[in-house]
Amino acid sequence: MSTTPRCAARVSTPGTRVSSHQCTRKAVEGDYCKIHHPDQVKTRYEASRARFMDDVKKSPLGQLLALQTANEETLSALRAELVSTKNTLSNTLNPPNTEWRLRGVAQGLQFAIDLLTSTDTP
Ligand SMILES: [Zn+2]
Repeated sequence: MSTTPRCAARVSTPGTRVSSHQCTRKAVEGDYCKIHHPDQVKTRYEASRARFMDDVKKSPLGQLLALQTANEETLSALRAELVSTKNTLSNTLNPPNTEWRLRGVAQGLQFAIDLLTSTDTP
């Protein structure tokens, strides 16, 4: 019987998906071999995840999501600007002489706001 401790990790048996066995490598870092040491496993997982997320960002779906986010930010900024303009006009125009114009402008701005915030797809 060997006196060198073996790595404590369980690994899948090649060629199967349901069978596993104890790693056959020597335990050199705590209870694990270099490959199965938790720090190494975590480092490899994070590197793999970073590569995956890079691939997702470069994919058509990732690019579409980035465009969607940019569009939502632009729409939000436009909406805020339209509301601000509408409020400025409401506060600065003289109501008795220009009320009918103000209503037209406000209706136009409200229409633009509704159009920009509509969730309906064309
Ligand atoms: Zn191992």
